[in-house]
Amino acid sequence: MVGSDVTLDALPLRDDLRGKSPYGAPQLDVAVRLNTNENPYPPPPELVADVTAAAAAAAADLHRYPDRDAVALRADLAAYLTADTGVPLTTANLWAANGSNEILQQVMQAFGGPGRLAVGFEPSYSMHPIIAAGTRTEWLPAPRRADFAIDVDAAAALLAERAPDLTFLTSPNNPTGQSLEPDELARLIDAAPGMVVVDEAYAEFSDRPSAVTLLGTHGHKLIVSRTMSKAFAFAGGRLGYLAAAPAVVDALQLVRLPYHLSALTQAAARASLRHAAATLGSVALLRAERDRVVSELAAAGYDVVPSDANFVLFGRFADAPRAWRAFLDRGVLIRDVGIPERLRVTIGTPEENDAFLQVALEINAETN
Ligand code: PMP
Repeated sequence: MVGSDVTLDALPLRDDLRGKSPYGAPQLDVAVRLNTNENPYPPPPELVADVTAAAAAAAADLHRYPDRDAVALRADLAAYLTADTGVPLTTANLWAANGSNEILQQVMQAFGGPGRLAVGFEPSYSMHPIIAAGTRTEWLPAPRRADFAIDVDAAAALLAERAPDLTFLTSPNNPTGQSLEPDELARLIDAAPGMVVVDEAYAEFSDRPSAVTLLGTHGHKLIVSRTMSKAFAFAGGRLGYLAAAPAVVDALQLVRLPYHLSALTQAAARASLRHAAATLGSVALLRAERDRVVSELAAAGYDVVPSDANFVLFGRFADAPRAWRAFLDRGVLIRDVGIPERLRVTIGTPEENDAFLQVALEINAETN
């Protein structure tokens, strides 16, 4: 293979990136894939037809750059989020990017960077420290309680003492599933002197009100990050967004690449949003399935962390990597998130969940 004599070690890579590992959820061709928290239901035929027609219309203009500010898409997102949260939002409050990962990266580029500190309460979403590393933002991992909830008093004290430029609060938290109540969020935002990002990738699955409801009182430091990858069943379309004060959106213009959202992405996302009611119809079903998976795992003797999202962290395994392999060997791909004794499973269709639970029963008998 051309270039196979070139080694990573020999490249003049930034010293601070040497030895780091990339994000790496395995993408394996397995019958039951419950490892990346996607919506298991494919888009309905009407949505596919609408996306196709929208892409065809956009294709006629592909010789031109897309709308750099994605105004129509942001207006649609503002309408959705206003309906979802009851908070009146406009285009100026919304910003969109290629997945919420890109949103988070733009936020770190604008508010983090060399000489700046970001804090997250771990275990949490593994991309937060990776994006911090890529933007040269110092990352301080702060602890959660043994039950994986945030100790709000201790967290508020830590934020006041360390005074991070950026604080990440993931609610519901991936991979543990718990969320924060608005009054807890408000206390933490009050304690943090810098910007606070509430990562709400799984908000639609939660019983708690969105942090968007705090924008009126805490808009000077609050950024709420969202995605169409989960509840909206649009992971392949790559569309994340945030809600914040218009000045925050202005700040991100300084770091975003021009035309970052392709005309095809914008058209497909808008078409998908037109079918929000149908797509989000799956959320109630997934929540009910989540509760069923939790109770069946518990009945089988597993220790299950209560979840407000579309995934469940469970254990305990003497050897979690070995148990992960045992699930895979039986055709069920779940996730080893690196937490000792625990594995994470995404809620799938009832049939997929049955297949998972069946294997969970077998494995429990073998390894626990
Ligand atoms: N935040 C959290 C908490 C996540 O779990 C994920 C996806 N796993 C993301 C953000 C990023 O998702 P996307 O880039 O697809 O929007």
